[in-house]
Amino acid sequence: MKNLRGRRFNMISYLPNLNPPDGGDYDAAIIGCGVSGANIARRLSAYQIRTVVLEKAADVSFGTSKSNSGIVHGGFHHNKKYLKARLEIQGSLMFDQLHRELDFPFKRCGIIVAALHEDEMKAVEQLYFQGVENGVIGIEICSRERILELEPKLNYDVVGGLYAPGGGMIEPYRFVFALVESAMKNGVHLFTNFKVEAAGRDEGAGLWTVQSADGRKIRSRYVINSSGLFADEVSRIFGGEEFSIKARKGEYYLMDKQTRARPGRVVFPVPTALSKGMLVIPTVEGTVLVGPTADNTENKYDYGTTTNRLEQILDSGKNMIPSLSRNDVITSFAGLRPFLEEDFYIEASKKAPAFVQVAGIQSPGLTASPAIGEYVKDLLKGIGLELTEKSAWDPYVEVRPRTREISPFQLDELIAQDPAWGNMVCRCEKVSEAEIVQAIRQGHYTLDGIKYFTRSQMGRCQGGFCTYKIIKIIMRETGLSWDEVSKHGDASRLLEAEL
Ligand SMILES: Cc1cc2nc3c(=O)[nH]c(=O)nc-3n(C[C@H](O)[C@H](O)[C@H](O)COP(=O)(O)OP(=O)(O)OC[C@H]3O[C@@H](n4cnc5c(N)ncnc54)[C@H](O)[C@@H]3O)c2cc1C
Repeated sequence: MKNLRGRRFNMISYLPNLNPPDGGDYDAAIIGCGVSGANIARRLSAYQIRTVVLEKAADVSFGTSKSNSGIVHGGFHHNKKYLKARLEIQGSLMFDQLHRELDFPFKRCGIIVAALHEDEMKAVEQLYFQGVENGVIGIEICSRERILELEPKLNYDVVGGLYAPGGGMIEPYRFVFALVESAMKNGVHLFTNFKVEAAGRDEGAGLWTVQSADGRKIRSRYVINSSGLFADEVSRIFGGEEFSIKARKGEYYLMDKQTRARPGRVVFPVPTALSKGMLVIPTVEGTVLVGPTADNTENKYDYGTTTNRLEQILDSGKNMIPSLSRNDVITSFAGLRPFLEEDFYIEASKKAPAFVQVAGIQSPGLTASPAIGEYVKDLLKGIGLELTEKSAWDPYVEVRPRTREISPFQLDELIAQDPAWGNMVCRCEKVSEAEIVQAIRQGHYTLDGIKYFTRSQMGRCQGGFCTYKIIKIIMRETGLSWDEVSKHGDASRLLEAEL
């Protein structure tokens, strides 16, 4: 079997700064490129330091950051004695500016909590007072009439609830891709397929040597551990604090865009002690998510869904939005929360020098992530990293046309420049060949990477009609052969015979 690792770097070596020579010294090395690592990288890209991101997967956002509810939370679920609550509130407020700069799908559609029994209104009141205490703008307690006015698809038995207008939805992987694109545009280096497996420290030089499973090495003055479910292992590699990250699984049903049950706002039940409950979520892309469950699992690779739990999800969803129908289900999936304790653990290590822990980033990690970037930047400054702003920092990424979002006249103009815009590869989500090629040229060369960048394979047919076309485009654009094309990296090759 040929070595895809080498191939990947050659394949997109025309991207700026992707392939610095091994052994170059960095000021900051970020381990793990989910939404935490990506926000930290982008924040550090504003300073005159050399930053590198090391990610074990074939692409960024392939960990917890790819499979979650995509909600920008409302700031009322947690008490502000917790760091996660404070970062959630600050992070949520940062999304409007990030949206303008980074062109990822985002909508403040508002969040409601629906109480279906009188005795749940006490908990609703508590959430309201917590929200007020946390400074949530516009939060209101709703009567039955008001909550039905806000969301007419709710169960008519609803007795009242809560409304937080600032809550919203994002496309989580597009958010991470845009952050990484912005960070790289501003000089950050990224190594994917770089599983950190060993580390050593030269105390005299004040440098960490960080080594990948396949023997590549980089050196860096500071290291940030934002490796999600595996932050405990990475901490051990660096001689940092001993802790144990547990995986808590969340299963979902995904409903087709055609469903008539799509609410206008995110609908929460009244939360339990263990989780925020199973929700009905109108995704920013037009589909509907129902879920997630919250079940501890011993296996950090256990992404399977189960009939029992999916049945409960549907029942629970229908309890809030009765028009939800099994006929609209197009797929199911699961995500794993990296659970440590009640709170995030973001601190400079007391055991390993120049090593910052960003661990236990469970929900609301996505919402909090822009504030995590800011917080970690300040922590690094506090332990001696000198940060001088770049005068030429550019916060914007390229805004790319999407076939499904533009007018037929605009599409005609694009086809005149490049006929690949006229070749519709994914009909469900209206994705052209030109967009698939763009994704590959941005470094997304697996089927999942292309899926998250373009939304191809995400519609009603779930890739049934377009997957083989995309495989052929990957082969043509990258030079990979049929047996090297994968779903999400090395272990997930697809084909047993040539197309
Ligand atoms: C079911 C579910 C629903 C959720 N819903 C929401 C929501 O609606 N709103 C919200 O705010 N939050 C939500 N969250 C939480 C949110 O998704 C997480 O907090 C966030 O994605 C964590 O990001 P991260 O970057 O810390 O971790 P990850 O995204 O897991 O990133 C860690 C990265 O580290 C890499 N890595 C691991 N080990 C190594 C190594 N040795 N070397 C190199 N790289 C390594 C991994 O491959 C991975 O890419 C939800 C989570 C789940 C599971």
